[in-house]
Amino acid sequence: MVIGVLKEAQAGETRVAATPATVEQLLKLGYEVVVEREAGEASSFTDDAYVDAGASIGDALSADVVFGVNAPSKAQLDGLKQGATLVSLLSPRLDQDMVDDLARRPITALSMDAVPRISRAQSLDVLSSMANIAGYRAVVEAAHTYGRFFTGQVTAAGKVNPAKVLVAGVGVAGLAAIGAAGSMGAIVYATDPRPEVADQVKSLGGEYLSVESAEAEVSATGYAKEMSDDYNQRAADLYAKLAPDVDIIITTALIPGRPAPTLITADMVASMKAGSVIVDMAAANGGNVEGTVKGRSVVTENGVTIIGYTDLAGRLPAQASQLYGTNLVNLMKLMTPEKDGVLVLDFDDVVQRSMTIVRQGELTWPPPEVQVS
Ligand code: NAD
Repeated sequence: MVIGVLKEAQAGETRVAATPATVEQLLKLGYEVVVEREAGEASSFTDDAYVDAGASIGDALSADVVFGVNAPSKAQLDGLKQGATLVSLLSPRLDQDMVDDLARRPITALSMDAVPRISRAQSLDVLSSMANIAGYRAVVEAAHTYGRFFTGQVTAAGKVNPAKVLVAGVGVAGLAAIGAAGSMGAIVYATDPRPEVADQVKSLGGEYLSVESAEAEVSATGYAKEMSDDYNQRAADLYAKLAPDVDIIITTALIPGRPAPTLITADMVASMKAGSVIVDMAAANGGNVEGTVKGRSVVTENGVTIIGYTDLAGRLPAQASQLYGTNLVNLMKLMTPEKDGVLVLDFDDVVQRSMTIVRQGELTWPPPEVQVS
């Protein structure tokens, strides 16, 4: 079978669904690979590099299996051949129109953002691989905008205090942010409703701040749930106390299927020092901070910058593409049991079942719920 790698249609997208290195791995599984002209341009992968790896440059849409990063455009969907398998981020929980559109087509569609949260599926978990990059990049953005040292110094010209960084939400992105900020010398505080993250924060050199409440627990699916009024009030008291003291706040709090919870109010932002920076990593889902503008950086009246970029992973495009491409290779390994270049969709496998939106024109979304393992 032939795998086609699309040039992304979405404006501003820098990533690509295969790199020369992942092309080599796909060939080893028995596939041919066709890459669309200049598909890797924005992530520094030239057409020549893909050809050297064994791919050809040409029409990716007419392939048997079509790889993308973002959901395809209408024109791209129209170009898929009958019986093709599309693999990309399709956001089926948020984009019902896309699900309906896919269901009208004689294709199979697999969504990389619907991989279940079980240990066995970690190697294809795009949300984790991208969140890890985004968390690191959030700190880089904050440091760039902050314009001061993160690390403390004692020099002949005087003493420089270390920056204080608060990370709200300690999932994959939050842990990456704690690690990056700590390695630059900042003092890092972090909080999350799931108390089991305390040890992880400590192991990265941060200080875990607990919100004292009866209700800190993990839900059955491994994601945080919506918190009670009692928890939210106590958390708000904690953030209000910290806001005037810290220099950087990085928020990452998400609740699957719900708008992001508001953690930092306008009053808290107003209490921060001029020159402080907030990176709201939940901006695409409504934001954790009052005043965030999705996709933009804004400066408040009291001189606080709020960064709401939604393309943080894409700001490290070569590595984001490499990790995304590796997630796809791992999916192909799962679906090519004979390593013969023939894709087999196994509905008895919970991973493949969970991410299938449409199977040969038949709507299979939503899948049965999967428990954490
Ligand atoms: P996420 O992106 O869904 O949420 C980010 C963080 O926000 C979470 O830690 C969550 O607890 C936190 N949060 C939610 N409400 C909050 C609130 N009101 N205040 C502060 N924080 C709040 O989470 P994630 O990064 O996908 O990961 C969550 C957990 O799942 C992690 O422990 C991760 O290691 C685990 N995980 C496991 C797998 C797997 O086994 N395949 C895959 C991904 C993640």
